[in-house]
Amino acid sequence: KYPLSEFGQRLALDSGIGELMQDLGEALASGDPSICMLGGGQPSHLDAVDQIWQQRMQSLAADRDQLMQMLGDYQAPAGDLLFRQTVAKRLSEEYGWPISEKNVCITAGGQTAFFLLLNALAGQFADGTRKRILLPLVPEYIGYADQGVSGDLFQAVRPKIEIIGDHEFKYAIDFDAIEIDESIAAMVLSRPTNPSSNVVTDEELARLAALADQQGIPLIVDNAYGDPFPGVIFTDTKPMWTESMVLTFSLSKLGLPGTRTGIVVADEPVIQALTSMNAITALANNNVGQHLVQPMIADGSLLDVSRQVIAPYYRQRAETTRQWITEAFADEVPYRLHRSEGAFFLWLWLPELPITSEELYHRLKARGVLVISGHYFFFGLEDQNWRHRDQCLRISFTAPEAQLRRGIETLADELKVVHQTV
Ligand code: PLP
Repeated sequence: KYPLSEFGQRLALDSGIGELMQDLGEALASGDPSICMLGGGQPSHLDAVDQIWQQRMQSLAADRDQLMQMLGDYQAPAGDLLFRQTVAKRLSEEYGWPISEKNVCITAGGQTAFFLLLNALAGQFADGTRKRILLPLVPEYIGYADQGVSGDLFQAVRPKIEIIGDHEFKYAIDFDAIEIDESIAAMVLSRPTNPSSNVVTDEELARLAALADQQGIPLIVDNAYGDPFPGVIFTDTKPMWTESMVLTFSLSKLGLPGTRTGIVVADEPVIQALTSMNAITALANNNVGQHLVQPMIADGSLLDVSRQVIAPYYRQRAETTRQWITEAFADEVPYRLHRSEGAFFLWLWLPELPITSEELYHRLKARGVLVISGHYFFFGLEDQNWRHRDQCLRISFTAPEAQLRRGIETLADELKVVHQTV
């Protein structure tokens, strides 16, 4: 209706993440049992975990003082002081990091943390120069792709591909291909990586951190699915923090996406900048998530639930889904799955797919199965001729079992049709 500014052009128009969230929201809202939602990063509803949130909510609601603190007070823009102190104490006890509440800022979800961080660090500078964010490994989280308010923000490095057995593969960072000059403002990596479920090893992470440190740029690590909560990592790894690292965490994948709570751990100047941006863009944060989980971070029970309930559940789900895919595809569809190392997804590579993954997405959508086309996750990569980027699908395995199984059977059937007829 109205002409849009550059900011409006960039944020108010269609995007991959917009399409995903639209599909997700519509599928959930429609309640249509025939739709198989294998697309979003929606956490599963785990009975044992949902019960904990219900009990916490009831106990908060029963105490009027606490309830009104939670609902009736604006927080300081960095977040609730007690919550920030509790997070800092827990992380220093678990991992030995020398941090205090001054190293912790709350945001409206991890997504907002990235919007603020990426735009503050990269884009157009006052002296006319432009800086970019280096993605040391793609495919990388679709949600970063359209966040730049002043032009494209990303420069990505093509990964190495390790072929494993008949039906598996794994990405690895190609360190020889990483070039950092003064036009690079920061490095960003999700760990586990959404979409591939790749978890970079402790050695790879330390090597990236050392590189960032040498260059005087931050390494931003997104732990949305990672340790210590929800802890959906199936390999033997540890988180790491140094002064040149910025870590983001979120309550969403614990089953609390509705609270919109992101947590950033960083050096003090970064926290101060984020606090300022929070105040300007949102005044304060949502208090609900912080109040719900604070006692559970204080007594360590949130980490226990993550390790004993949440992580084993998703690990089992990943394995069951892999088995269903193996059975359904039989030997009729050429495929490989990325080694499953964490998060909520299997990443499917179809090396002989005769159409693009985007066309496949539309064909599946027409049959009531929603997945995400892999091409969205290769942003920032100049090599447009790499066929791999149009040969992958992200399959989320958090939907109820019957739905997931039906979705996989339809996917297998459609792939057989496509391979035979196109
Ligand atoms: N980072 C990754 C890798 C994600 O997958 C998501 C959500 O799916 C987010 C960040 C943002 O999550 P939230 O804003 O709910 O914390």
